[in-house]
Amino acid sequence: MAQVNIKDIVKQYGELKVIHGVNVDIADGEFVVLVGPSGCGKSTLLRMIAGLEAISAGEISIGGRVVNNVLPKDRDIAMVFQSYALYPHKTVAENMGFSLKIKGAPKAEINAKVQKAADVLDLGKLLDRYPKQLSGGQRQLWRWGARSCAIHKCSCLMNRSQTLMQSCAWQCASKSRNCISV
Ligand code: ADP
Ligand code: MG
Repeated sequence: MAQVNIKDIVKQYGELKVIHGVNVDIADGEFVVLVGPSGCGKSTLLRMIAGLEAISAGEISIGGRVVNNVLPKDRDIAMVFQSYALYPHKTVAENMGFSLKIKGAPKAEINAKVQKAADVLDLGKLLDRYPKQLSGGQRQLWRWGARSCAIHKCSCLMNRSQTLMQSCAWQCASKSRNCISV
């Protein structure tokens, strides 16, 4: 895990200024929830942290490294969107370990990381199930598990589903994971 520092962040789409200088310091392992009315800029801020959106002004650091110009793939963070994509023909465990498998990770490492993520998210009993055998909330948790296996520093969770927030909030907090939710 890593600390995240957001300093004087501004986002502008042409003439339209949507984020007006946000400052947030998130400690290593801290559980953070962003709350605000629709359109206030929550998703835009998360997209800038993940590197999916350019920053108009200010600085974002992850683990002490300024990432303004670092590509999303090099930030070592993950983002789980409200909508999820899962391979229907793979089990929970296979989906979770898939990104590691295509990176060529050894089987023992894949199994260990899948097990660790499943423990954190309380998905242990579902590892042999297929997507169609899970509830919507379980599928999202699972997707997050898949991202957690592949990354180390920080997870950003974007969701408006109360079910998922209720089911994952205590897990995030009790396991000290960095989690930003919308
Ligand atoms: P939230 O997630 O808090 O509901 P967003 O971050 O999605 O809000 O959007 C913040 C504001 O930025 C909104 O007013 C939205 O219309 C505007 N916005 C988002 N993306 C774009 C874009 N690509 N071009 C212009 N305006 C945008
Ligand atoms: Mg949003």
